[in-house]
Amino acid sequence: MEVLAHDIVIVGAGIAGLRAAIAAAETNKKIDVAVISKVYSVRSHSVCAQGGTAAVMREGDSHDLHAWDTVKGADFLSDQDVVEFFVERSPKELVTLEHWGCPWSRTPEGKMDQRPFGGHSFPRACFAADMTGLVEMHTLHGRAIVQKNITFYDEWFITSIIIEDNVVKGLTAIDLKTGEMHAFRGKAIIMATGGYARIYEFTTFSHTSTGDGMTIVYRAGVPLKDMEFVQFHPTGLVPPGILITGGARGEGGYLINAEGKRFMKHYAPEKMELAPRDIVARAETTELQGGRGLEGPYGPYIGLDLRHLGEDKINERLPLIRDVAIKLGGVDPVDEPIPIKPAAHYSMGGIHANVKTETSASGLYATGECACLSAHGANRLGTNSTAGCLVFGTVAGEEAAKHALSSTFRELSKDAIMAEESRVFDGILGSEGDERVPVIRDEMRRLMKEKAWVYRTGDELESALKEIRGLKKRFRNVRVEDKGRSFNTGLVEALQLDFTLDLAEVTVTCALDRTESRGAHSRLDHTKRDDENWLKHILAYYSKNGPRLEYIPVTVTKWPPTKRAY
Ligand SMILES: Cc1cc2nc3c(=O)[nH]c(=O)nc-3n(C[C@H](O)[C@H](O)[C@H](O)COP(=O)(O)OP(=O)(O)OC[C@H]3O[C@@H](n4cnc5c(N)ncnc54)[C@H](O)[C@@H]3O)c2cc1C
Repeated sequence: MEVLAHDIVIVGAGIAGLRAAIAAAETNKKIDVAVISKVYSVRSHSVCAQGGTAAVMREGDSHDLHAWDTVKGADFLSDQDVVEFFVERSPKELVTLEHWGCPWSRTPEGKMDQRPFGGHSFPRACFAADMTGLVEMHTLHGRAIVQKNITFYDEWFITSIIIEDNVVKGLTAIDLKTGEMHAFRGKAIIMATGGYARIYEFTTFSHTSTGDGMTIVYRAGVPLKDMEFVQFHPTGLVPPGILITGGARGEGGYLINAEGKRFMKHYAPEKMELAPRDIVARAETTELQGGRGLEGPYGPYIGLDLRHLGEDKINERLPLIRDVAIKLGGVDPVDEPIPIKPAAHYSMGGIHANVKTETSASGLYATGECACLSAHGANRLGTNSTAGCLVFGTVAGEEAAKHALSSTFRELSKDAIMAEESRVFDGILGSEGDERVPVIRDEMRRLMKEKAWVYRTGDELESALKEIRGLKKRFRNVRVEDKGRSFNTGLVEALQLDFTLDLAEVTVTCALDRTESRGAHSRLDHTKRDDENWLKHILAYYSKNGPRLEYIPVTVTKWPPTKRAY
């Protein structure tokens, strides 16, 4: 096994990872940065971001207003110091991308245009038609690849991290082309491995979004935070689950039930379709459960009606949406409502980190969707994620650079590396058991959809937890058919399933523990928000017998919790 060394090792090449790499590399040209990604960088899920990126750019808007919208949207579980930092830094990030050549949609005078978005009380989503993530990623990638001090390891899969005495030392990764495992030493390591909504059956997420980085650090002793909060996006296309951007409602789209009625007037009379996602997803679920869904070959659905926008506006502002609706939903939105329903979309929870992206292990940073800095609380507002990836990607890069400049490489223990090689190649690849990865994976995704979805109950969560633990046992007996080394996608799928099973267990354990309803976590047996007992974050620590939970307070600066109505 070869041991490679870079001052800073970044895992993940989405918006957060690339932004961190540029920030670190530009801080000091002598810093040697590695970016590892299991897929070619511009295939990271970030390219799928559609609707926009939030920032205060105009008169009439303000940092306080953006912060307030975010805190209220988050059902008061955000740490408000983090939110204030985030909204202040976001405009600068967008202007930086503008200077790097990002092709934004523009107003007739040539300024960066902004569109309305759910939960925001000012049109503050900067966008590029409905392909915002794609253009941001290409802008960042173009900037990153010209830096001489960044080395890309595309199609390398990390399997473990080495933390000893609470100091991060390195990690192990498989070069997927050769199938060989290598070790990396790093003075600082940044996790930017994205979300894990692939624990669900009906999701907007890429197949690669399996939360590997979260499980890897969790198993190494770093806690995960607020994992009960999974966001369900109101407009997942039926049948594939592909996202129809919130920008479609931002441009004026309606949601209608089988009676052709705009039912949101009963749930959020003021904001209607532009209420935050948790509220709209619950409204849709209530309509569907009440028998008011439209009937289709894949079961009842809600209609997203764009017809009144007209063909020209749809083509200019939502060209991708029209294409996807025609090709994968079988309808042209110019003529018919698009069939949609709630889909698992985002993880508010993740690796516990502070506003500097520092984790509990020295030298280990977490940023982007895999991290929980507590900006998004119990429910993230649309367009705040890509903004957060830019702001806290930069912070992670700068902080890791500072750390790397003042520390030295550490020796990696041979035993730890050999144990990991044996776990992966003898334990998982070498197993001759009779269980199959797709079977266990489908069961996990089905049960998460049935028992830990938009509405939850204690009984169903208990039963989900039992089933997940059963699946974890069965996983030990899994067999990967392909025993080869080069591009062994069967082995990668098995490793990813192993990671997601832990995340499903943590999600359900925390959801069971939180006996209140807040943001995206809605308990039918505890329907009220309970600030007296639950204005706190749940930390989940790994233990052999399942997650061990601890609690930390929420930071309130200017906005004490009040009633949340739209
Ligand atoms: C369809 C869709 C549309 C969205 N639209 C918007 C929007 O309009 N506005 C908004 O603000 N947010 C949006 N979001 C959310 C936002 O896009 C994501 O939260 C954000 O892009 C995540 O970026 P990231 O850099 O954290 O991770 P990702 O872009 O998910 O990248 C993760 C990286 O980690 C790497 N990785 C993971 N595991 C491993 C491993 N084991 N070994 C090596 N590498 C690994 C991957 O290869 C990848 O490079 C959308 C999300 C989706 C799914």
